[in-house]
Amino acid sequence: MFNKKMLTDLDDKGKKVLVRVDFNVPLKDGKVGDDTRIKAALPTINYLLENGAAVILCSHLGRPKGVADPAFSLKPVADYLGGMVNAPVKFAEDCIGEKAEEAVKTLKVGEVLVLENTRFHKEEKKNDPGMAKALALLADLYVNDAFGSAHRAHASTTGVAEYLPAAAGFLLQKEIQYLGNAIAEPQRPFVAILGGAKVSDKIGVIENLLTKADNILIGGGMANTFFKAQGYEMSDSLVEDEVVDTAKALMEKPGGKLMLPVDVAIADAFDADANAKTMDSGDVPEGWRVLDIGPKTVEAFASVIKDAGTVVWNGPMGVFEFPKFAQGTFGVAKAVADSKAVSIIGGGDSVAAINQSGLEAKITHVSTGGGASLEMLEGKELPGLSALNDK
Ligand code: AMP
Repeated sequence: MFNKKMLTDLDDKGKKVLVRVDFNVPLKDGKVGDDTRIKAALPTINYLLENGAAVILCSHLGRPKGVADPAFSLKPVADYLGGMVNAPVKFAEDCIGEKAEEAVKTLKVGEVLVLENTRFHKEEKKNDPGMAKALALLADLYVNDAFGSAHRAHASTTGVAEYLPAAAGFLLQKEIQYLGNAIAEPQRPFVAILGGAKVSDKIGVIENLLTKADNILIGGGMANTFFKAQGYEMSDSLVEDEVVDTAKALMEKPGGKLMLPVDVAIADAFDADANAKTMDSGDVPEGWRVLDIGPKTVEAFASVIKDAGTVVWNGPMGVFEFPKFAQGTFGVAKAVADSKAVSIIGGGDSVAAINQSGLEAKITHVSTGGGASLEMLEGKELPGLSALNDK
């Protein structure tokens, strides 16, 4: 089902290979805060090094406004990578132009060069052909391994693929296969768990999953909008009034069974130390807001998850940043980990929850891409994948 050229199909010996990686990692005090995404890129980097290629890595980091901004430099990531690969890792202060070209000129086979943040140029996000050509000029071959950015049509993710032989890296392939198979040929029952703040971000996902999943379990802030659509008074809860009608229409659509929380944890303030209590789903008292799913819901969701063949989870069940309101998210994390189902977790917060609970080893696949995995769940084609050469 994966019909794109792989890096293993390329003749990369002695070649300069430009690899788009997803090094968009959190930085803390100028150092790498979490190295999951760097580790995830290692199979591709090591394969190319062992195969006698010179490896040029490019990525974005954070959201600089199209200009060079030291706070978003990839230099700390290059330094960190130096301790992870058995090869010299160099750094170029720009990803295109003279500095990049000079650095590439002296780059040898078996060496790695990390280019500075692609988003230091506003042309990156515009998928400007000039920038794509300038990137292509640096290498003989292009490999995209940045699943986390594959839903973006940018110069370094799609544009450059027009000017070089272009193949997929191991991470991109792995992510697409896990998610693609889960959606196309799920072992049933296929259970989707959706949470997070907003339903507006996930309308397309719910629409698509209604036709594919057997159960869709809804938690998090997004459940509030569904409650409102059922006519409940939600008081100070986060509700998106502009999509209440859409939520209502989704509930009336035929397809997989939409399950809402049967009980919720409410708080008298949006605060870690707020007073908390649980109540059956219904009218929320004045001055209170829903911040988590309740224990009965965790139990109900867990019993569905227990019998699942495939589980896909995106988005926390509550404001899990506040320990008092993290029980729903951690309860669901445990249920997913305990289930024998093929389990796939995507989205920064759900991945953080699973990591915090130390259960990640029990998950079939923890995705490195939140937005990209959501777009796959929505049934959309990823531009970063489409741009690559067919097999
Ligand atoms: P998202 O970025 O859409 O995945 O949403 C993640 C955020 O949703 C987290 O920061 C949670 O704190 C927040 N969240 C989850 N449940 C609720 C809720 N009931 N009310 C407000 N925010 C929530």
